[in-house]
Amino acid sequence: MDVSIIGTGYVGTVTGACFAELGHNVVSVDIDSEKVAQINAGISPIYEPGLSELLKKHAGTRLRATSDYNDAISSSDVTFICVGTPSDEDGNIDLSIVRSASKKIGDALAGREQYHVVVVKSTVVPATTDEVVAPLVRVGGMGGTGGAKGGDVGVAMNPEFLREGKAVHDFMNPDKIVIGGDTRAAGTVASLYEKIPCEITLTDTRTAEMIKYANNSFLATKISFANEIGNICKKLGIDVYEVMAAIGKDYRISEHFLNAGAGFGGSCFPKDVKALIGRAKEIGYDPILLNAVIEVNEEQPMRMIELLTERVGDLRNKRIAVLGLAFKNDTDDIRETRSIPVITELLNRGATVAAYDPLAAGNMRKVFSDIEYCKSAGDALSGSDACLIMTEWDEFGSLDQEFDAMKEIVVIDGRRMVTPDRGLYEGICW
Ligand code: NAD
Repeated sequence: MDVSIIGTGYVGTVTGACFAELGHNVVSVDIDSEKVAQINAGISPIYEPGLSELLKKHAGTRLRATSDYNDAISSSDVTFICVGTPSDEDGNIDLSIVRSASKKIGDALAGREQYHVVVVKSTVVPATTDEVVAPLVRVGGMGGTGGAKGGDVGVAMNPEFLREGKAVHDFMNPDKIVIGGDTRAAGTVASLYEKIPCEITLTDTRTAEMIKYANNSFLATKISFANEIGNICKKLGIDVYEVMAAIGKDYRISEHFLNAGAGFGGSCFPKDVKALIGRAKEIGYDPILLNAVIEVNEEQPMRMIELLTERVGDLRNKRIAVLGLAFKNDTDDIRETRSIPVITELLNRGATVAAYDPLAAGNMRKVFSDIEYCKSAGDALSGSDACLIMTEWDEFGSLDQEFDAMKEIVVIDGRRMVTPDRGLYEGICW
């Protein structure tokens, strides 16, 4: 099938490359000409295991990129919207990029006679596909002069559940595929996935939208739950990891997402939980549990600072090594990473920061231009008064002699990564 993908970020690039791998012809669209050029050259604009290989394999044959909506829409039967849906200042969903992309799709569909399906893959609050996207792609954005004739535009909602760092694997081996829409539109989308052996949940668009929020909110709740139990365990001198390992054996709970630590970040959990809270409030419901999930998560990074000051006192002019900048391992994504509030607070308190991350330093430079970025964990530790571990990179697990280059060995671990047998070691929840 011929597919166009609007937005070549994490979701759009992976979706395009994987659909090409599944045998479809893909045209990707982005307003960022650098990303367009990279994709056409077979270079991945993001770090994601396996993605470069797929882009190299398919760029110029089954996959190409452009900034021209007309070109992409006219060469496809199905268009996926994969643009960002950030939070606004109040934490509510900001749909301006979705609106803008929908208008341009509507304009490009003007006068088209063949059936075309527009699929929302971006995470959007319930009713967005029907009430925001559908009217724009059907009537266009030029004062109603665009859009397809004769109601030939179907709309569908196909939420994405991939995890960054494992995105290609997750796209090709999903545990669920959810498609919302009428029989014709949803059926067209389902046929794109026919080579993937996975049950497809067919539903309406609003339910598909809600499934994505419920999924992410539940996972975020598990993490904040583990952190809250961890905070209590620490005060009681109980090892929360032993507690979670045991309760994770209960099939109703499962072992995943129970690692207590510095909290969750990333482009999805914080923003999606906040967006659901915002939508709930709009309709007159106060989501007590979801509010608490965010509150616990926002306090965890500050606990790292509290523990640090308990160990080293006033932070002025202290050199603090921050190991890990990405919001999790195997990605260069720093969106909502817990390292940002931690570094901000360190700087507010007059510390100097020596940061190290195997992939994310380049992105973090755009947020903090004047902290020291080190080439290795050893360089960051060297001469430091204390160290904070913020990301679960495997390589931190084998740090040992590097600690000896610190002024004093003081390690505050936010991810349960190291166990130095000397100096002062303290886990955030253990
Ligand atoms: P992203 O910010 O990485 O990518 C968005 C891309 O859209 C960028 O390349 C940007 O240049 C482009 N863009 C912006 N405006 C555009 C326009 N008008 N036309 C064409 N391109 C435009 O975002 P992402 O992380 O890929 O997320 C996209 C959506 O998928 C969001 O709703 C997100 O919540 C959801 N999602 C993300 C993940 C994830 O792990 N990142 C997982 C599941 C769902």
